[in-house]
Amino acid sequence: MSVVPRAIIDHAALRHNLRRVRHYAPHSRVLAVIKANAYGHGMVEVAGSLGEADGFAVARLEEAVKLREAGVRKPILILGGVQTGAELALAHHQECDLVVHHLAQIELLERERLAGAVRVWLKVDTGMHRLGILPDEVPAALARLLDSGALAGPPRLMTHLGNADVLGDPLTERQCAALRRLAGPETGELSIGNSAGLIACPASRSDWVRPGIMLYGASPFSAGAAADQGLRPVMTLRARLIALRRCRRGDAVGYGGTYVCPEDMPVGVVGIGYGDGYPRHAPSGTPALVGGVRVPLIGRVSMDLITLDLRGLPGARLGDAVTLWGEGLPVEEVARATGTIAYELLCRVSPRVAVEHLGRTGERARGNDGEAKGA
Ligand SMILES: *Cc1c(COP(=O)(O)O)cnc(C)c1O
Repeated sequence: MSVVPRAIIDHAALRHNLRRVRHYAPHSRVLAVIKANAYGHGMVEVAGSLGEADGFAVARLEEAVKLREAGVRKPILILGGVQTGAELALAHHQECDLVVHHLAQIELLERERLAGAVRVWLKVDTGMHRLGILPDEVPAALARLLDSGALAGPPRLMTHLGNADVLGDPLTERQCAALRRLAGPETGELSIGNSAGLIACPASRSDWVRPGIMLYGASPFSAGAAADQGLRPVMTLRARLIALRRCRRGDAVGYGGTYVCPEDMPVGVVGIGYGDGYPRHAPSGTPALVGGVRVPLIGRVSMDLITLDLRGLPGARLGDAVTLWGEGLPVEEVARATGTIAYELLCRVSPRVAVEHLGRTGERARGNDGEAKGA
């Protein structure tokens, strides 16, 4: 029995969640967003199981190169684009699509003499005010892009939704309309929806959608559960009970003694902590799952350990598996208890955690290893 915490990645759930994307946006093509190591799930492994996606999106060139080196042949869009001539040449060599969100990136395309052409997605700031050129600047930007002679096909237009996670926020519809107004004979396909957008806002189901978090089975909304959208959690984070204690009334548990036992009570110590990516600021009361029963975290999270109130589970045994999130305990619930979002919890699972991939597409294709043997 290993006491190393494990992130179990359920590739059948991943493929199921991609089918949920298709359910919501049946007429859109799907760029599966697998930046930040596929939100902590393993970028190359996730790409391997999402063969049904139409392409992938990553934040940075380095991520795209890693995918190409792993043999991924599908379209890859670099959401941040490139900043230098050397990066542009590498992106072109690796046949990556580029976001152009800044005039400096247009100048780069004008200045560098590429041996071929690149596909460009012109990013428009329709109201989020982070990346993108303003709608007023689009006609001039399009003219310059077309003149640069560097383009493979007409520039596609994209925008990113700032408040789509808040159901009914009027900004979302305004952003969709603002991008759609810019489409014309010189522009190619459009891309608007992220997970929250494509689920809740039909106007964001553009030619291409860019789901991230929903592929991993977490709800993109600030309230509600992923199960409401028929999504299944992909990552289950597990550790084990490595000590069982009986604390006395008045005992203060952990660093700082922030939790004081209100009565004599069983306390479980679990071999996971912030050094594994479990959030240090998770307060007492944050749920964990032991043998299917929810029990509250008590005291401070330490680097390698957390402590649980086991009064609700008198039969707990040394070595029992503890689920920190995933199957049976939605990550968004832990995120809300902790004052953060599922994205952050998933992304920051640390390399110290052992990753176990179950049901990878490649394994199934090879035959009877993998799933069957692991069962
Ligand atoms: C990360 C990202 C997405 C995916 O967003 P989710 O909320 O995870 O679906 C889509 N588009 C852009 C530009 C992004 O940066």
